[in-house]
Amino acid sequence: MTQVLVVEDDPQLVRALVINMQARQYGVDVAPDGATALRLAATRPPDVVIVDLGLPDMDGVDVIKALRGRNRAPILVLSARRASDEKVAALDAGADDYITKPFSMDELLARLRAAVRRTEDTPIAPDTTLVETTAFTIDLLAKKVMRGGHTVRLTPTEWHLLEILVTNPGRLVTQKRLLQEVWGVSQHSKTNYLRVYMAQLRRKLEADPSHPRYLVTEPGMGYRFEA
Ligand code: CA
Repeated sequence: MTQVLVVEDDPQLVRALVINMQARQYGVDVAPDGATALRLAATRPPDVVIVDLGLPDMDGVDVIKALRGRNRAPILVLSARRASDEKVAALDAGADDYITKPFSMDELLARLRAAVRRTEDTPIAPDTTLVETTAFTIDLLAKKVMRGGHTVRLTPTEWHLLEILVTNPGRLVTQKRLLQEVWGVSQHSKTNYLRVYMAQLRRKLEADPSHPRYLVTEPGMGYRFEA
């Protein structure tokens, strides 16, 4: 049974979450505040955690940092609309995904399944080098991209960016992480680098670069590779 730790102080939302998750055979622990969450996580390590950022006793981001220090379980963040900085801070602290309130229960359950599935998928092994989509194929070992029977020429920077995204399929990768890994900088002022290089990648890989199907922007936050 997949054990879920729900860290949320809104009793109505908690009730809805518990009913829906138990109906789908999840085991559920509930913590109404950060201190309880950390205590519960220590006694019964969860397989996946859902954390509301607005908690009565602690900042949700600090809860995420504390959980990350001792557990690799995926963390899904619940956050109020428009709090984009908060979401980025949560992702940078080690959260895996976020859902903006109000959300549909179906969406939350789908994200939960995806998060659990990612932990069950073995990471891309060195001999599993092909990432295939209906539009293009990437050979991670040969560092080659094929599209319509032709090799796509990528600059080293484009390749590095693409490699990070495709080895994190379905997962939001923050601007900060991409900037750090590709350019070695973390300033948000450099996000224009990202926009330029993502636009180039889309021109080379997407059928309709202005409506990307594979290299998706999460506005103000980062990018996601949808296989
Ligand atoms: Ca709250």
